[in-house]
Amino acid sequence: MPEHPAAATVATVAGVPVDTRHWIGGRRVASADTFADHSPIDGTELARIARGTAAEAEAAVAAARTAFPAWASTPPAERARLLHAIADGVEARLADLAAVETADNGALLRSHLRGVMPRVAHNFRFFADRLLELAHPELDTRGHANRVSWDPAGPCVLITPWNAPLMLATWKVAPALAAGNTVVLKPAEWSPLTASLLADIAAEAGLPAGVLNLVQGYGDEVGAPLTAHPDVRRISFTGSVPTARRIAETAGRNLTPVSLELGGKSPMLVFADADLDLAVELAVGQYDNAGQVCLAATRLLVDASVAEEFTARFTGRAAELRQGDPREESTDLGPNIHPRQLERIDGFVRRALAAGARAVIGGGPNPELGGLYYRPTLLAGVAQDSEVVQEEVFGPVLTLQTFDTEKEAVELANGTRFGLAATLVTGDRERADRIADQLVAGTVWVNCFFVRDLRAPFGGSRESGIGREGGDWSFDFYADLRNTVTAPKGWSDRG
Ligand code: NAD
Repeated sequence: MPEHPAAATVATVAGVPVDTRHWIGGRRVASADTFADHSPIDGTELARIARGTAAEAEAAVAAARTAFPAWASTPPAERARLLHAIADGVEARLADLAAVETADNGALLRSHLRGVMPRVAHNFRFFADRLLELAHPELDTRGHANRVSWDPAGPCVLITPWNAPLMLATWKVAPALAAGNTVVLKPAEWSPLTASLLADIAAEAGLPAGVLNLVQGYGDEVGAPLTAHPDVRRISFTGSVPTARRIAETAGRNLTPVSLELGGKSPMLVFADADLDLAVELAVGQYDNAGQVCLAATRLLVDASVAEEFTARFTGRAAELRQGDPREESTDLGPNIHPRQLERIDGFVRRALAAGARAVIGGGPNPELGGLYYRPTLLAGVAQDSEVVQEEVFGPVLTLQTFDTEKEAVELANGTRFGLAATLVTGDRERADRIADQLVAGTVWVNCFFVRDLRAPFGGSRESGIGREGGDWSFDFYADLRNTVTAPKGWSDRG
């Protein structure tokens, strides 16, 4: 790789030095060009980031390929020890990671400090421990012994979105490394910073050079060549459906296995027998991260007999939400990520209003705060086939529809092309099971939301994705399973 020492080096973000270059083969690599990374909080330029190209993609895959044999043959206990050392490093730098992530993607600092970054560390600890617990079934076939083993697959390309950058990246990095693979991580260009801190942490923990590589840049410039590379053995992608289609097409040419975690338009079904205070609390909670959560239950489906009461309580509770600077402890709702995203969100809302929807609350940008702050919005009077009900908005915009029967509720719930998650609020346990069994969704929550166990499968049906990750499902994806069948006879006397 040519050196570009004058291009991009280190930026100070929230008081934390962040290297803005790639991390390839155990060293920092600049690019000829850079791109600007802005904070959604106030629009300031945080850093200029190395703008990767096909050359950096090639170098990163080459580094991952070179490092693979040694890492793959590193004993699982040693791999697990190194992953725990990375988790230690994450915990030691938790405050830095949280501050940089908030500056970069605008999500709440308190969430990063108390929820997200501890989970980042847990991602490494969980898959380190799980690696040592993997089952190696031994089956007997007419005296022949079957021995099942999990073999490292090779270099993995991991491509992640901006809404929960480090959490989603490490949800892939940790199992990929645990399984004995080497990694090239490509974070989103709107929030690229904490991935660079992760590279520092991994190096300080003693992860060998080339085992974890990081390339920065735009999807079409550096992401696309990564997904087209014939030496890549797995591609795991979290992001939007249109990008997933491109990646799947490209990967298909090399028959590279892909795991796709995509968008959603998840429903929350509120039945007449529900605890309405709980239902309202769960519904208002969907404005978390300014609505930029793939799992968010953005379609509120409420039994008509309680809809008026629900709406009144929802409106009262939503009025208590405090919107503002995500670094403030008292803030509930921060900015959206980027001017383009704000424009997109507002476009959905304006078109819905023009088509006859009614804004129960919100309905536009927050005029007091300006910038990228969009008012929490609830739209009623929306038809099932309308754009705002069918398309993922990815902002603080919920829709309200009513139903009269269970059958109608299920039809509305399943009536989009997505199938990521669903939430049920009901006081009737049998109804909960009955409805859950009819829903097309990778995860169904009953009287709760966002309760996640890393042992459980995670993923979406229909256009919400392909495959499941989590627990052994992650190892299923990141490992090559081998069955060795040994006959009882044929051994020499020396054997
Ligand atoms: P996006 O698809 O625009 O970008 C995601 C990543 O793909 C970025 O790193 C981008 O640079 C890269 N990319 C873009 N074009 C590429 C190409 N041609 N080849 C390779 N890489 C390319 O998505 P986004 O806007 O960053 O993220 C929001 C989306 O992610 C939403 O749809 C959301 O629902 C989804 N999401 C899903 C989950 C889940 O677990 N199911 C979690 C979080 C977000």
